[in-house]
Amino acid sequence: MTETIYREPVRVIGGPPPGAAALEAREVAAWFGDHLVLDGVSLEMPAREVTALIGPSGCGKSTFLRILNRMHELVPSASLAGEVLLDGQDIYADGTRAQHARLRIGMVFQKPNPFPAMSIRDNVLAGLKLAGVKCPDKDALVEQSLERAGLWREVRDRLNQPGGALSGGQQQRLCIARSLAVQPNVLLMDEPCSALDPTSTRRIEQTIAEIADEVTIVIVTHNMQQAQRVSDHCAFFLAGENEPGRIVEHGPTEQIFGEPEDVRTYDYVNGRF
Ligand code: ADP
Ligand code: MG
Repeated sequence: MTETIYREPVRVIGGPPPGAAALEAREVAAWFGDHLVLDGVSLEMPAREVTALIGPSGCGKSTFLRILNRMHELVPSASLAGEVLLDGQDIYADGTRAQHARLRIGMVFQKPNPFPAMSIRDNVLAGLKLAGVKCPDKDALVEQSLERAGLWREVRDRLNQPGGALSGGQQQRLCIARSLAVQPNVLLMDEPCSALDPTSTRRIEQTIAEIADEVTIVIVTHNMQQAQRVSDHCAFFLAGENEPGRIVEHGPTEQIFGEPEDVRTYDYVNGRF
């Protein structure tokens, strides 16, 4: 495993200016075996802004998210076509390692998944270890990552306690801290609040609002109020019966909710299906 030297924390991470695409999917199609689950999905996810992916269950949102950081290929039956560009570079180009994409593009899942027996501190550092990244000042990184995830004040006196001792909402913020510790360009979040109570949900939303200045965020949510609260852009996915998932419409969040162009978008965001 190659070792990368940890870069000093910076407020604004390099890459394209806000508004330019940090991540871009071009004509993505995905299969499990011979089952086509996504087709013709193209989407630009602007740098340091929040893009929400919405749509009914089973339309391919999680699959799309996993394609964005090369986790889709971990499923043996999975295949795909198309391109995913991170700062203009195809993460699937020949010779590009999956590890590189997963380092730059972090993921937070629906169910908080810290290492339960591992200390809070080591949980934050766990991603670095996996990535083989060296960090000269681990304490500063732990503090900074927990602070950015909105958890520092609650855990500063108990960093050696196991991650599993935290509440569900705290565990999810610990997972966000663990992702942020490797300084990703992009953070993918797959229904990060679905398993949480309303108070914890609000805390995560606050965290999203704060880190969105530095990290490009793509979030899957079934909560339309949440999509409106946290996102700048929205993409509405839909699959038909025996039809793969596609993006029906995407655009600024206020447009998708206020003046959608497609009647199916209107019906979905207004809870009609
Ligand atoms: P969503 O996140 O929008 O609910 P998913 O991406 O989870 O949708 O699923 C899209 C389609 O892909 C569904 O038909 C689902 O059954 C199928 N699918 C998802 N994961 C797998 C897998 N590991 N193996 C086979 N089929 C899968
Ligand atoms: Mg899903």
